[in-house]
This record gives sequence, structure tokens and C-alpha cells, in this order.
Amino acid sequence: MPAPVSGSIMVVGGGISGLTTALEAAEVGYEVFLVEKEASLGGRVAQLKHYFPKLCPPTCGLEINYRRLKDNKNIKVFTMSEVQKVDGQAGDYTVTVKTRPRYVNENCTACGECAKVCETEISNDFNFGMNRRKAAYLPHNMAFPQRCVIDPAMSSDDRERVKAACKYDAVDFDMQEKTFDLKVGAVVFNTGWQPYDATRIDNLGFGRYQNVITNMMLERMAASNGPTEGKILRPSDEKAPQTIAFAQCAGSRDENHLSYCSYICCMASLKHATYLRAQYPDAKIYIYYIDLRTPGRKYEKFYANLKADENIFFVKGRYAAHLRSGQTGCRPELRRRRFYYQ
Ligand SMILES: Cc1cc2nc3c(=O)[nH]c(=O)nc-3n(C[C@H](O)[C@H](O)[C@H](O)COP(=O)(O)OP(=O)(O)OC[C@H]3O[C@@H](n4cnc5c(N)ncnc54)[C@H](O)[C@@H]3O)c2cc1C
Repeated sequence: MPAPVSGSIMVVGGGISGLTTALEAAEVGYEVFLVEKEASLGGRVAQLKHYFPKLCPPTCGLEINYRRLKDNKNIKVFTMSEVQKVDGQAGDYTVTVKTRPRYVNENCTACGECAKVCETEISNDFNFGMNRRKAAYLPHNMAFPQRCVIDPAMSSDDRERVKAACKYDAVDFDMQEKTFDLKVGAVVFNTGWQPYDATRIDNLGFGRYQNVITNMMLERMAASNGPTEGKILRPSDEKAPQTIAFAQCAGSRDENHLSYCSYICCMASLKHATYLRAQYPDAKIYIYYIDLRTPGRKYEKFYANLKADENIFFVKGRYAAHLRSGQTGCRPELRRRRFYYQ
């Protein structure tokens, strides 16, 4: 291996993996450039209500890492940024990075006055489109950096209002997209994962039936900073669900979709059962699975605790049924083949 020409490292992706990579490298003395495409670090973990197996809020882990990050002069963070090109060779790379304008500068204190006066609304991607947000917004309450963003869709009237409302002179509509090069000795990609497009799993009816949701949507609903402020409700009528079914391996271990196991969804559904149980002591919860994968002592114990709940039913078998158009209820004889709230 040739000795590195540059001592700098680029880490692409600011989720929990990228944050950890950047911090570990910076803390042993490397200069690190952390490049994140969203307006805030944290990745998917920031969208979760609790983290298994301890069931603690992800804020704990993220806050500790943000503290380490703030204390470390070796790390430079570029949010709203993506790698365009990597040239060079091992130990000596030139990476071209493009940064989108935030239209908000470092003066921002995240006071939220801009959002108050803004009338333009956009879909809230952080909540998977389950609600809308203002075109001037803080990405979420755990955002790092704690700085608002202005969406380019903001109307010109709103632009004037927002600029006038900001006491800190933080709004800057002259900001432009920037492209620049960085010299690094190594590049580490930690770009994480994307939810599978659930509309492609035709037999589950996602996108056709309001009460069929994905596990990440459930995370957002359960989170106190989510679209329902933490209350898990049936999207169709905002009432309490009485029967909830989890379709395991949806889009996984299936040659029509992804052939491999996601590793995480068994534990995610078991965790979701704890969310539901905390809110609905009598709800019936069905978990339809091919194999339950709860590796290691802690995960197995988590599963064992839930098995002791007499209203959580583990049903081995692959779901198959379609829901018929217009059907809103769940007939008892079909109940075991449904994957939505009743
Ligand atoms: C429903 C559900 C519940 C879960 N619950 C738990 C749990 O309780 N406990 C647990 O241990 N795990 C849980 N997980 C798994 C956990 O979400 C992942 O382990 C974790 O998100 C992995 O972090 P990551 O940094 O690798 O990826 P991500 O969280 O996906 O972060 C990747 C980051 O890279 C950024 N990025 C992507 N592409 C680019 C690009 N081209 N340029 C720059 N940046 C880019 C993204 O914006 C993001 O910030 C759960 C997963 C699911 C689906």
C-alpha cells in the first residue's frame, strides 16, 4: 500500500454510520470532511421514536455525537451537499462537491419567526408526506446544525415577509449553488438505505388503502415530533386502531422484489408492538412472518418478553390476500390475512 499523499478523509453520508466514522477518524488526528445531502445530520435514526433494544430515544446517541463533533476542530461539515466526481488514485483523490443554497446563514438561531410568517406550505418529507410544513423550516427538533432552511418553492411574497421577520439577518436569497474541489487521501461512503417503494408490493395495497402504512411511517406517527404528535391513529379516520397486523419480509426475501433479508424488520416490528401496547393496552397485534430473526441474547430476550403478551399473535406464513376496492372493514374470517388497522 502506498503511503497516503493527503492526510484528509472524506466521509459521505451523515447518518449514525457516517458520524461515527468521521468522529473516530477526527479523534485520532485526521482532518475530516463530512458531506451530507440533507439539511441536517442524523440520517434515518433521527426519524425513529425509540431505538431497540434499550428503547431509548435516538436523541441520546445523536446528541453525544453532536457534542463530540462540536468539540472537534478536525471535522468540517457540509450539509445540503453531494459528491459530483472523484478523480485520482488511492491516497490522493480530488473530490468535487456541490452544495445547494440553504438561503439561511450562520446567524440563524432557529427561533422559528420565519416559519411563523411564511404562508407557502410544502410536503413534509421527514414525515413521509403525512403532513405539510412551511417552506421556511427547521428540518426537525434534533437537527444539526440547528439552522432553518428555506425551500426554493417559497412564494415571492413570503420571501419578503420572511426576510423582514428575521431579527438576525440570517435570511439570504442571494445564496447560490456552489461547486468546489477537496483533496483527500481516502473517501468513505456511508450513504445508508432508502425505504423500498411499498407501492410495488401490489398485494399489500399500500397507496390504495389509507390504513396500510410502512414501518417508517409508523415510526414517524409514534414520535412526539411526528405528524400526529406521537399518537398512533388510523390514517383513514384518525381513530384508535383495535387490530394491527404486521406483514414481515414485505419486499424482502422475495425474488420479485429484493432477494435478501433486511436484517432489521423483525426487531422493528417487535419494537412497534411495544409502541402500540403502550398506547392501546387491549389492541390485538398480529405479526405474520416467515422466520423471526432476533439474533443475539438481547434481541431474543426482547422477543421473549413480547411473546408473553396474550394479545400479540405470531403467525407463521406468507401473506397473500388482496384487499378489495372500497373495503374498509376486516371480516373476522379474513382477519389473519390483513395488514392494516381495523
Ligand atoms: C422501521 C425501522 C426501525 C428501525 N429501528 C432501529 C432500532 O430501533 N435500533 C437499531 O439499531 N436500528 C434500527 N433501524 C435501523 C437503522 O435505521 C439503521 O441501522 C441506521 O439508519 C443506519 O445508519 P446509516 O448511517 O448507515 O444510514 P442512514 O441512517 O440511512 O444515513 C445515511 C445518510 O447518508 C445521507 N446520504 C445518502 N446518500 C447521500 C449522498 N449521495 N451524498 C451525501 N449524503 C448522502 C442520507 O441523507 C443520510 O443522512 C431501524 C430501521 C427501520 C427501517
